[in-house]
Amino acid sequence: MSNTDLHNLGVAQLAALLRGKQVSAVEAAQHFLTRARAHQHLGAYLAIDEDVTLAQARAQDAGIAAGAAAPLAGVPIAHKDIFVTRDFPTTAASRILAGYRSPFDATVVARLTQAGCVTLGKLSCDEFAMGASNENAAIAPVGHDAAQPVRNPWNTEHVPGGSSGGSAAAVAARLVPAATGTDTGGSIRQPASFCGITGIKPTYGRASRYGMIAFASSLDQAGPMARSAEDCALLLSQICGPDPERDSTSLDRPAEDFTARLNDSLDGLRIGVPTEFFGEGLAGDVRAAVDAALKEYEKLGARLVPIHLPRTELSVPVYYILAPAEASSNLSRFDGVRYGHRATQYTDLLDMYKKTRSQGFGDEVKRRIMIGTYVLSEGYYDAYYLQAQKIRRMIADDFQAAFRQCDLIAGPVAPTTAWRLGSQTDPVTNYLADIYTLPASLAGLPGMSVPAGFGAGGMPVGLQLIGNYFDEARLLNAAHRLQQATDFHLRAPEGI
Ligand code: GLN
Repeated sequence: MSNTDLHNLGVAQLAALLRGKQVSAVEAAQHFLTRARAHQHLGAYLAIDEDVTLAQARAQDAGIAAGAAAPLAGVPIAHKDIFVTRDFPTTAASRILAGYRSPFDATVVARLTQAGCVTLGKLSCDEFAMGASNENAAIAPVGHDAAQPVRNPWNTEHVPGGSSGGSAAAVAARLVPAATGTDTGGSIRQPASFCGITGIKPTYGRASRYGMIAFASSLDQAGPMARSAEDCALLLSQICGPDPERDSTSLDRPAEDFTARLNDSLDGLRIGVPTEFFGEGLAGDVRAAVDAALKEYEKLGARLVPIHLPRTELSVPVYYILAPAEASSNLSRFDGVRYGHRATQYTDLLDMYKKTRSQGFGDEVKRRIMIGTYVLSEGYYDAYYLQAQKIRRMIADDFQAAFRQCDLIAGPVAPTTAWRLGSQTDPVTNYLADIYTLPASLAGLPGMSVPAGFGAGGMPVGLQLIGNYFDEARLLNAAHRLQQATDFHLRAPEGI
């Protein structure tokens, strides 16, 4: 194996080479750091610190040499900048956290480090994970003087999706074999789809939210983004598990080996296809790729079952009431006193709060704080927040009715492929584009995006798979089997 090709290897292959001492953790880290620097125009990284990374790599090499290799010893990883890290700055891509350093690591970060992963750096995202294009990032990426959106490696004039756009672009451009992301309403699945990679959001509560900067706490979940389902399974096995002392919503469900069922047969698997996911608004090229993937599943022995998720349309208004409501509360902690930025000129305490928050937050974040504050205010609470909560429950019930007829659900991730940078500036249009990812988020169900082909202009299309609670292994099995029958996940963008 020539070291010049290391970036084409996935997590599983790299881990094997590292354990077999065919490549050292330091060599792997250096290779990917060099690539990160060579592809700075993508704007994927917000922070890189070679000394920290190489120190971690040397420690892994020592473990391997001593015969005490951790399961993913020396495998490079990078984290969405929404996870707090002790050794790198953490900003959530917001000016209000510029220069912030956490005194501790998020549980997800700590677990992956414990498993032997070497952190290459922090990846760009939409500010506080609010957005679907990474155009809301407000921090300058490595190698740039001003804030930039991340560019999609398949066509650098297009968005990578969001909010985990830096993670998706970095994995697609082979700047790192895998990355973490977070998904509140689609932020792992949609950028994975836009960048032609694989990503999974587990059941709400399977991954600890400790140290994940909160957006909408009842929806936020962490998950891995990698090129293959197998690699996602390896990482998810390390990420999941209860964290009772630190996240009281983490579920008492032991970590699982998600690779165990990857090769199970799909014979007789009932795949529910929701009619509501194929209505008007779904672009023809996306539809064609999704249909082809569904046909492939039939060849693999699965049976397609038409199902209904009748409240799909309502998921948009419900989510865009509940998520801002929770965000407005969560973001009240950024007041200039405790973290990050503080206005320098003010008259009194209230004025300091106002100026700090006016200067520190970007437009989309402010918009959500205002919507959230409004829907929670006396007189409107019953009309908006309470109604939305009720419909949220009905959406979850609809899924349970559907899962009586099928084992998993498949459909598009997003209505279109990645759009051109700067072409979608109307917030409501952006919110509507989340329609297919929001239902599973509101229900707390696991969901993933699997590369399913390419649409107009060669832009990637993802297939969304949604499972019932705790059915991550089945999702990964279905994704893995599709990946053995297709090669979309192996293709690289031109020039990469
Ligand atoms: N696009 C959705 C939003 O803007 C989802 C974001 C996310 O999952 N973090 O809220």
